[in-house]
Amino acid sequence: MASDQPSTFERSQPEGLLTLDFGTPPRAAAAAAIFAGEHPVQGVVGVDDDTAVVAAAIAERLGVRGNPPAAALAARDKHRQRELLARAGVPVPPFRLERIDRDPTLLADTLPYPCVLKPLRLAASRGVIRANGPAEFVAAFHRVAAILAEPDVAACGEPARQLLIEEFIGGPEFALEGLLVAGRLRVLAVFDKPDPLDGPFFEETIYVTPSRLPGAAVDALTATAQAAADALGLREGPLHIELRYNARGPWVIDLAARPIGGRCSAVLRFVTPASQGGGLVSLEELVIRHALGFELGSVEREPQAAGVMMIPVPGAGVLRAVQGLDAARAVPQVEDVVISVHQGQRLVPLPEGARYPGFIFARGPTARAVEGALRAAHGRLQFVLEER
Ligand code: ADP
Repeated sequence: MASDQPSTFERSQPEGLLTLDFGTPPRAAAAAAIFAGEHPVQGVVGVDDDTAVVAAAIAERLGVRGNPPAAALAARDKHRQRELLARAGVPVPPFRLERIDRDPTLLADTLPYPCVLKPLRLAASRGVIRANGPAEFVAAFHRVAAILAEPDVAACGEPARQLLIEEFIGGPEFALEGLLVAGRLRVLAVFDKPDPLDGPFFEETIYVTPSRLPGAAVDALTATAQAAADALGLREGPLHIELRYNARGPWVIDLAARPIGGRCSAVLRFVTPASQGGGLVSLEELVIRHALGFELGSVEREPQAAGVMMIPVPGAGVLRAVQGLDAARAVPQVEDVVISVHQGQRLVPLPEGARYPGFIFARGPTARAVEGALRAAHGRLQFVLEER
């Protein structure tokens, strides 16, 4: 387990814990190689956007399964990603890169509307804003600039001084969870996002699988996801990709060379082949098995429908209490309600904030039933906030 800050236990467990410089992947790879000389390493897995890049550098250095470092870098950088996808003919919204110190009033009349303003390196829709016309664009630009100036964001350097401006692509949105094996995409799940994502901010809420899209449309999403992976040169490991689907077909909205984030992966369980025991395994276990070089065989998601709700931020303020948890957990088909913020914590709505207060998980016979259970459970929760 490598981290960028030393673990308290590193001295007592030198064979299991390692500190690496995540900000300089080649240096991290060199340190990992020294570590591997003493403690053999058979695979490497990144867990988020930044560590996916570090993992690729380490995999190359150690000669184990992984993505080419350039591909992992391209996946992390929203602009580079757009450039490579557009060049390969993968459908992406028309886009342009601008500096955040530009005068937005000079840009406002030159844009297609509606458009979307988007930071290059943030996640969970933080700083992503739709503008329907010049006045909204100018206001959104200033708002994104303020987010990019926040110390945690400004620390990433040059990418925090730029933003993407894209055409807004309408139509329902889907998330595809996959695993690349020797360049071939294995689709692990396709999620519907049944709440419309029309802006001005794009709060993720419900993900439900299996998708209720017709099979041919799911096939089109899959083919686009494969084309996107090929265009970036991604070859091994998890792929999480957001797509829209409208009358003109599928569009890649965003792609990441890592598994689904937050706690959402708990919604996925897979049935292993009888030859491997036939039990249920988690997404993490599949990803690790693949990284270790195992053949996955015919892995299928379990037959039940499953869903997760990333609980929307209920407002701005300091969290005092969450009421109705037992009632929410008692909704049939709801498996768990997890509150991941603590009392006294400040909740910040989008576009400035990026942290969901919690997650609701459900499993049931149909996607429709699961979606209903998630909504019912959410309806029973009350967040008590103190505005300060
Ligand atoms: P993040 O990595 O922060 O989640 P994304 O690029 O995935 O950023 O954007 C977040 C959400 O904003 C998307 O899931 C989508 O709903 C919406 N979005 C982003 N870009 C566009 C676009 N060009 N057209 C329509 N919706 C968009």
